[in-house]
Amino acid sequence: MSLKEFSNLNRNKTILNLCKDTFDLVVIGGGITGAGIALDASSRGLKVALIEKNDFASGTSSKSTKLIHGGLRYLKQFDFWLVKEVGSERAIVHKLAPHLVLPEKMLLPLMENGSYGKWLTSIGLKVYDILAQVTDEDKRQMLEKEDALILEPLLPTKNLNGAGYYAEYRTDDARLTIENIKTSLNYDTTALNYASVEEFIYTDKKITGVVVKDAVSGSEFKIKSKYVVSATGPWVDDLRAVNNSNKGKHLYLTKGVHLVFPYEKLPVQQSVYFDIPDGRMMFAIPRGNTTYVGTTDTHYTENKDKVKTDLADAMYLISAVNNMFPTIELSLDDIVSSWAGLRPLIHEEGKSASELSRKDEIFTSDTGLISIAGGKLTGYRKMAERVVDRVVKLVEEADSTKELKSCHTDEIPLCKNAFKNAKEVKEYILEITSRIQADGFKAHDAWFLVTNYAKQTEVVLETYALINDKDIKVRLAKAELLFCIHYEMIQNPMDFFIRRTGRLYFDIESIRYLMDPILEEFKKVFKLSDNKIEDYRQELEHEIDEHSNFSLNRD
Ligand SMILES: Cc1cc2nc3c(=O)[nH]c(=O)nc-3n(C[C@H](O)[C@H](O)[C@H](O)COP(=O)(O)OP(=O)(O)OC[C@H]3O[C@@H](n4cnc5c(N)ncnc54)[C@H](O)[C@@H]3O)c2cc1C
Repeated sequence: MSLKEFSNLNRNKTILNLCKDTFDLVVIGGGITGAGIALDASSRGLKVALIEKNDFASGTSSKSTKLIHGGLRYLKQFDFWLVKEVGSERAIVHKLAPHLVLPEKMLLPLMENGSYGKWLTSIGLKVYDILAQVTDEDKRQMLEKEDALILEPLLPTKNLNGAGYYAEYRTDDARLTIENIKTSLNYDTTALNYASVEEFIYTDKKITGVVVKDAVSGSEFKIKSKYVVSATGPWVDDLRAVNNSNKGKHLYLTKGVHLVFPYEKLPVQQSVYFDIPDGRMMFAIPRGNTTYVGTTDTHYTENKDKVKTDLADAMYLISAVNNMFPTIELSLDDIVSSWAGLRPLIHEEGKSASELSRKDEIFTSDTGLISIAGGKLTGYRKMAERVVDRVVKLVEEADSTKELKSCHTDEIPLCKNAFKNAKEVKEYILEITSRIQADGFKAHDAWFLVTNYAKQTEVVLETYALINDKDIKVRLAKAELLFCIHYEMIQNPMDFFIRRTGRLYFDIESIRYLMDPILEEFKKVFKLSDNKIEDYRQELEHEIDEHSNFSLNRD
């Protein structure tokens, strides 16, 4: 399989290209919103530069609940338009990346005095099915108490009135982002991470480019561009301030935390969306050898670059889980990992965090900065379409000879040799299982490879065959690493362990096991000094501790 090289080993060349050309569009922010915009704009025929100050998806787009969902909760807010849009989007994104957006049935226990009564839930889920265009086998079912308990024996027998059972989809947010970016490279996109937009360049009071600081070398360079979009999520107002246009509506940030437990400590048979005592709702989602729960929703005004799960967040979530599942007695010591992210919501006077709409909005400043804020991971493709429609209109107004395509990202599969449907994904997992079993790998390893890399697994396995290492786990991880270095633009080991493979969240022990050989490989490929490798080691140790250590005396 031939893939397009996308590597920080070519960083200088990429920066030269960014300086040399004039772009139609600079997209600031390499989260899911920026990634979707880059793909949409370049596939319509625009020349695009995508600039991310940290790693791709290092903001909110690796910290979500990882659901591509129809937005049942928006029904409670009577936001029918949003339910309809995100509901139909789920089906589209599933079609574009069936290995990455997988069906996930959700159980909604109906409790005495809970948020959802039986009658309202039945009607609500029906409306949801219609709005979200749910097809036959995924249509909602209303379950009696006994059936709900068969599906999820951990539910409390007391106060349980039955359950709703409906369709959602799960994903990996960071991988969805990187696959969008990689797909955009097939058109005219140049993308760079670890490069921060610091200033705008103006000509006759209109933005005509950006000043970028390269976080790797510390030097600055300029990119010339006809239009600039800021898709910087929680940082949107900061960029508007740099542009002197931060007036009118502004962002309201809320922190959302998730905790991860070993599966045996919270062995839910399937995903559950349940009531918690303060009137909010929470998810418990099994994933591999873990179960994760979330989330919180608290106003946040601290450092956006260092969002942490604190003890209060952890205790709140644990007590909510213990309250719902009476036989479960989780404690802080059971947490194996966690993540915390910021929702970039749009402020509305007099509304609480959970009442604020998740709709996106676009602001255009007098000097031409187009900012997109709010929204959901699920709706990223539609958000991108709305932004790019604006840009295309401006391009065509400025140059009537320019002929651009209309949005067709609903037909662009994400990933080389994409699967056609979930059945093909399952068959391929079986095929990979049988191919790697002889070496001692299990079905879970094949599942991980395929849901992470789709058919790019072939490239990983080709590299695996060339590596000499007695330890098969190390050998496979090195093959993955080389894939991510050459085709997914990782710059440091954290990018690999956190955002490209999700190991920090769902297999944290493997980082301890793999740390030395992966650092050694990094050193070799990037030609790094011992000191630099030692810095990376300490950074990794710090990340592991910060995400997993919740002893009461931690600082
Ligand atoms: C706890 C939580 C749970 C959620 N769960 C779900 C869910 O299950 N399903 C769902 O659909 N949605 C969910 N969401 C919402 C969803 O995650 C977000 O809407 C989405 O990830 C936002 O993406 P974004 O690209 O706009 O922002 P981000 O992912 O934050 O990307 C913005 C990027 O801009 C970069 N940047 C900032 N300033 C600059 C600069 N000066 N120069 C260059 N780059 C810059 C940042 O580094 C960052 O990477 C959840 C959100 C939270 C917080």
